[in-house]
Amino acid sequence: MLSLTVVAMRIVSEDRKDIEFRKRIVPAACVFMPEHIISIIADHADDGLDEDKETMGLLIGRFFRDDNGTYAIIDGIATAGLIADSSKVRFEKETMEDLFDQLVLKEDQCVVGWYHSHLDVGCFMSPTDISTQKGIFGDECGFALVIDPVRKELDVFDNDPDGPKHVDMVIIDND
Ligand SMILES: [Zn+2]
Repeated sequence: MLSLTVVAMRIVSEDRKDIEFRKRIVPAACVFMPEHIISIIADHADDGLDEDKETMGLLIGRFFRDDNGTYAIIDGIATAGLIADSSKVRFEKETMEDLFDQLVLKEDQCVVGWYHSHLDVGCFMSPTDISTQKGIFGDECGFALVIDPVRKELDVFDNDPDGPKHVDMVIIDND
């Protein structure tokens, strides 16, 4: 997890210089997710469930800001070989480079969050999840999506210094 953290933090901090001001289309939402991306994340979680394994990946997109603060519009995901069982997941060291090879970021794109699955325990942020979140984003804005393919639940959390808080996500139509 350490190298992922170091590289991700570099990506996070390098791309944070200027966040464009743009009013969000749904005032209460912090994450805007295209329908086809949520399908990829759900399929990934289902595939993991077939093997009784958690899954995880990074959420790629863009940050914007308005009077209500910073929000993210997701463009895609990146994932790599995982070491996982039914209650924990991390990236394989050997395939870590594959992950970052996938991270050919376009202008303004950066790591805006990460996702992982929970198998039939519901969606929450465990102490390990919180330290992963802090490791990737530090004190910067970043979102954690948790999906439970057994209970068909999904939740998104922010990186609040006082602990992750639920934020609203809006599914947007594919372009
Ligand atoms: Zn978790």
